[in-house]
Amino acid sequence: MALALFSWAALASPAVTALRVSGQPDKTRVVLELTDKTTQSVFTLENPSRVVIDLPRAALTSKLPVVEGVVSALRSARRDNGDLRIVLDVNTAVTPLVSWLPAEQGVGHRLVVDLPTGKSVVTAVENAAPVAATTSMSAPVVAQAVPVNTTTNAVPTPAQAGSVVTKARDLIIAIDPGHGGEDPGAIGPTGVKEKNVTLAIALQLKERIDAEPGMKAILTRETDLFVPLSERPNRARQRQADMFVSIHADAVDRSSPSGSSVYTLSSKRATSEAARYLADRENAADLIGGVSLDDKSNVLASVLLDLTQGASMSASMEAAGFVLDELDRIGNIHHQQVQQASFKVLTAPDIPSMLVETAFISNPVEEQRLANPEHQARIADALLGGIRDYFYANSPPGTRIAQMKLTRQARN
Ligand SMILES: [Zn+2]
Repeated sequence: MALALFSWAALASPAVTALRVSGQPDKTRVVLELTDKTTQSVFTLENPSRVVIDLPRAALTSKLPVVEGVVSALRSARRDNGDLRIVLDVNTAVTPLVSWLPAEQGVGHRLVVDLPTGKSVVTAVENAAPVAATTSMSAPVVAQAVPVNTTTNAVPTPAQAGSVVTKARDLIIAIDPGHGGEDPGAIGPTGVKEKNVTLAIALQLKERIDAEPGMKAILTRETDLFVPLSERPNRARQRQADMFVSIHADAVDRSSPSGSSVYTLSSKRATSEAARYLADRENAADLIGGVSLDDKSNVLASVLLDLTQGASMSASMEAAGFVLDELDRIGNIHHQQVQQASFKVLTAPDIPSMLVETAFISNPVEEQRLANPEHQARIADALLGGIRDYFYANSPPGTRIAQMKLTRQARN
């Protein structure tokens, strides 16, 4: 044991002590600061586009940075050969340019990975001198590349933010009307069917989302059709949805219970789902951004999947909380807190997902409300409000909503 510890220490593995991503008009620059220079392997993968940085035996001691530019997400994992792998999700196919900057006073060795976007949108920047090797990287690179903004302020000018709006994408919200076709769902005391109520609310919600700037809705079913539970999250994933909202109505064998509840997937179910996905390597690889898992141990594969799933579960909880707050404004709430349960329809590990029990169809008063288009509209408004609150608080980079926020910040 002592020998093993000794030889491990003797390897003096380089540590990544800082990691920065800066979006610039013509490129996105990723800088890794290391305690020692090392060999690196930087390559790209497609569908979806990713840049992978492998560093032999390196350790990551810095926090993961906020992403910007073409980088929409960033994650790290240790490969089973001991290498550190950093995966960058990029909005567009890029050809990385790799260079090293030597250590200097107070700054370690820097591995610089530039991702040129091929589109220089701010004319002043095209004539700007490239960042020299002597540039102090402790100041944001943005300040060097944008002469109009020589302070260390990374907030883009309105011109920059505005010029990016055109290529920003809409958020995709998948709405899942519960039940359908041969599956009526719960049936109320006077015969109102859950499948019809959920579709009516879903259609009203879709109309509202499509009218929102920066958002688009898709439906897992648009008519009175039977769609298997497992197929529903698949449809959301095929359309690359940013969120999945399943709409239902509750029922019990007593008439008194009333009110709305919002559910996310329980971590126990999530764990068993992760195991199921891992059993199918291709499926799992797709989930963690397409990095092939064929050559990786179960431990690494599950770490990678955990990162994806953990992020989407906390996002689910937060978004569900916003939706519950909005439902609280329009009526009574059955459960005051977001509930966690094992729902098959919530098992897309990479999409924040929630299930909304809008009201109790088994309660005669709520049954009538659920069948009333005006009340359906109030529910749709509440759902939209919660989804909007969540995405304005957590707008994914590269989306129109994120750009609108940047433009607003820059003007202030
Ligand atoms: Zn249901």
